[in-house]
Amino acid sequence: LDYRIIDMWEIEKDQYWGYVTNGGTEGNLHGILLGRELLPEGILYASKDSHYSVFKAARMYRMDSETINTSVNGEMDYSNLRAKLLQNKDKPAIINVTIGTTFKGAIDDVDVILETLKDCGYSQDRFYIHCDAALCGLMTPFINNMISFKKPIGSVTISGHKFLGCPMPCGVQITRKSYINNLSTNVEYIASVDATISGSRNGLTPIFLWYSLSAKGQIGLQKDVKKCLDNAKYLKDRLQQEGISVMLNELSIIVVLERPRDHEFVRRWQLSCVKDMAHVI
Ligand SMILES: *Cc1c(COP(=O)(O)O)cnc(C)c1O
Repeated sequence: LDYRIIDMWEIEKDQYWGYVTNGGTEGNLHGILLGRELLPEGILYASKDSHYSVFKAARMYRMDSETINTSVNGEMDYSNLRAKLLQNKDKPAIINVTIGTTFKGAIDDVDVILETLKDCGYSQDRFYIHCDAALCGLMTPFINNMISFKKPIGSVTISGHKFLGCPMPCGVQITRKSYINNLSTNVEYIASVDATISGSRNGLTPIFLWYSLSAKGQIGLQKDVKKCLDNAKYLKDRLQQEGISVMLNELSIIVVLERPRDHEFVRRWQLSCVKDMAHVI
């Protein structure tokens, strides 16, 4: 299992540490905690389209945080990030990068963020990047190399019940082995070292993840990615033909459309709505 995932995110076999979580939220709680432990004075930067679990982490860990604006497509506004980084230059930066926002499917550009950090004078030991790739973490390896541990990123998390379609909530969190000692405590009672968020975890979910990854394989996953992208494009075109306003981010499988006025229609299809928008994945 992790052989394939670490392969996709380009981290060497002896350099990673990871575990199967109860979902994307747990991965975010873990990744942001890693950043906080490495940089205790760090300020958390997250765009306003970040998943709510990121702001939950900031509250739980009592971290100072900055909410970064987003463009209309849901992507982080890098000039706003730059302004806020410059305002807080005396404190390290812990950045939550969303690889596929929950509602609009926008991908924050890791390379632009790294470039911005450099421009603002943040050296590599003064920032930590957590990638929340709940939906798109297994898609990006087939479309661009946004997620790669060859870049100075600290952790990546995905949800197993999203793109892979596991029948119960689960996820995978991967980080650098060198970072995990900060979180590890010896627990005599379980005869093991604990460096995770939750205690007992579902032992069946790793098997589902393994099954899904090995049944599909690299080629099957690639086909799924293509099919989902094609379907999204098809839906967007069909809605447009009907005169409905739609938005589809580049490399996204989430079609955003104007919220249908018919409440019964929304209820019947269980459409998730925000303000005057609805989306379909
Ligand atoms: C769904 C989602 C999460 C949370 O994942 P769960 O598995 O539901 O805890 C985190 N981040 C993003 C971007 C998501 O879309």
